[in-house]
Amino acid sequence: MAQSNLFYQSRLGRPMLDRAEGIYMWDTSGKRYIDGSSGAMVSNIGHSNPNVIAAMKAQMDKSTFGYRLHFQNEPAETLARKTAELMPDGLDRVFFVSGGSEAVESAVKLARQYTLTQGQDSRWKVISRFPSYHGGTLGAVALTGYDPLSKPFAPLFQDMPKIAAPLCYLDRDNLSEDERGLKYAELLRDKILEEGPDSVLAFIMEPVGGASTGALVAPDSYYSRIREICDEFGILLIYDEVMTGAGRTGKFVASEHWGVTPDIVALSKGFAAGYAPLGAMVAKTPIVDAVLDAGGFMHGFTYAGNPLACAAGVAVLDELKRQDLINNAANIGGVLKQELTGLMDRYPFIGDVRGKGLLLAFELVSDRTTMSPLPKDFNAFNRLVDLAYERGLIIYSRRTRGGYEGDHFLVCPPLIVTREQVNEIMAILTESLDAMADEMNLQVVR
Ligand code: PLP
Repeated sequence: MAQSNLFYQSRLGRPMLDRAEGIYMWDTSGKRYIDGSSGAMVSNIGHSNPNVIAAMKAQMDKSTFGYRLHFQNEPAETLARKTAELMPDGLDRVFFVSGGSEAVESAVKLARQYTLTQGQDSRWKVISRFPSYHGGTLGAVALTGYDPLSKPFAPLFQDMPKIAAPLCYLDRDNLSEDERGLKYAELLRDKILEEGPDSVLAFIMEPVGGASTGALVAPDSYYSRIREICDEFGILLIYDEVMTGAGRTGKFVASEHWGVTPDIVALSKGFAAGYAPLGAMVAKTPIVDAVLDAGGFMHGFTYAGNPLACAAGVAVLDELKRQDLINNAANIGGVLKQELTGLMDRYPFIGDVRGKGLLLAFELVSDRTTMSPLPKDFNAFNRLVDLAYERGLIIYSRRTRGGYEGDHFLVCPPLIVTREQVNEIMAILTESLDAMADEMNLQVVR
């Protein structure tokens, strides 16, 4: 094959996509794949939804671009209204962007401008967690706790303070779940005191971890204590719901699971579900008003509020509602989690199954009691993905422990997935795990 002019991370070639429908995708040779990871946890309503496509076509016949400083547009207004209606009370001002990194950057910049309006110029540090992923732009990389993706660029950005994310499944102590959640939350308090409370602007976290952690969920006690600590020091709480938002965890945003309202939320991925590049930052009114009253938000992107992208977004939110997909994520997610947990009987090398709704993951280990990872040169994180891909199932993987060893896999099909399709996914996954176990000489209880 002639060398492509296109390049991304590596020379890894993949088949040419032909078409996609529902949870299935086909390459140009006619081979079918189950989209078991919704791409990168994006295609929440499945592929080629006819209502979304019709809405986009209708918008294309009217206008595809209107610069936000020249025109307001109906799809952007409607999407902002519908988004605010779906968000927890108080989060009602919406700023559109084209992706997750832009949403995170926008959140941090809004937070900074807000504190300036409060006369708190000394606040600029944004504390984040390790591991975490917040995006690929330099500001978002500074917040990201995943060394392989941030280390090479370290001289280019101001590194931000990090605290350990609650990796409770690795803890070997005598604490209760609740106590562990509080233990991890106190790390934030300690870090704020260490950095100097007057220098800290915000704390950013993924309410359920994404690719870097493999769907990590903290104990319930963590979430409310984090909110209290932020309030104690006047620090803004930013939830990065780029992956968890738009119904993926069984609520519109994951913060609803714990009744905690952050000050600013970043959305993308499932928000337009792959139909258009779209994201949003949603903030509390007093924050936005303070910034606008003080002269305006010194920030924006050319494609923000693009009418075509917003028309797709409106149609996606309508489909979530029409098909009751958020409840489906909760219900079918429960079924899929149970099935994944069932794999632990057959494969002693699965150490943990975790997640919420249809943001689910499992992690491989060489020993369940110590939770030590498989030898890293087994490269299980790549091998299992390839074995499943050969068999027509797409799953998503990352290295677990700081990005350098350990293997976890996200199984996150579109929210339209049915019980029968869960069986299909499980059948291919089991075949692939068997094949990997044979290759790597890992124990299988058959
Ligand atoms: N934040 C989280 C939690 C993500 O999972 C991602 C992408 O994976 C991003 C931010 C960055 O989004 P994007 O790749 O659209 O810029």
